[in-house]
Amino acid sequence: MKILIYLSVFMSLQMCSQVKHPEKVKNMENSAAKTNPYYSRTDRTKLTVTNAEWKKILPADLYAIAREADTERPFTGKYNQFDELGEYYCAVCGNHLFRSDSKFSSTCGWPSFFEADKEGVAYHRDSTLGMERTEVVCKRCDSHLGHVFNDGPEPTGMRYCMNSVSLEFVGDSEKK
Ligand code: FE
Repeated sequence: MKILIYLSVFMSLQMCSQVKHPEKVKNMENSAAKTNPYYSRTDRTKLTVTNAEWKKILPADLYAIAREADTERPFTGKYNQFDELGEYYCAVCGNHLFRSDSKFSSTCGWPSFFEADKEGVAYHRDSTLGMERTEVVCKRCDSHLGHVFNDGPEPTGMRYCMNSVSLEFVGDSEKK
């Protein structure tokens, strides 16, 4: 049963296409983990925290995706249809990952970006489920964010297909 779910998710990923229409604007509260001692939007020092420790700190849904590479159901994420101007940080550790300028409206059901912060993300080969994919992780805490595909829009042609749960948005209007 689980394999069928994974396959359906994979098919959805493959059927993604890019539409450059503006997305609907939704107001959203920043829910950065306030009880997380490792969370920082300025410190980029590599973290070596065990999953046992993360499990005590993170909400269950974030732990499942960030630390066990689970995938949120398509079209359910809080940033799927969201186009406010601002920055996207790692929901686990606060590391900067994306700028809203690189977000585009994809029909695949997950928030998608054509470019990532080079200092924010790292890549792993992912050969699970009989597929060859490139996993995207946070460079600071090594948490799973999603996958990157080469069917994105210009100027990069890349599509960073991310889990909303793994992201934390801070709007430009919230900057001090
Ligand atoms: Fe992180």
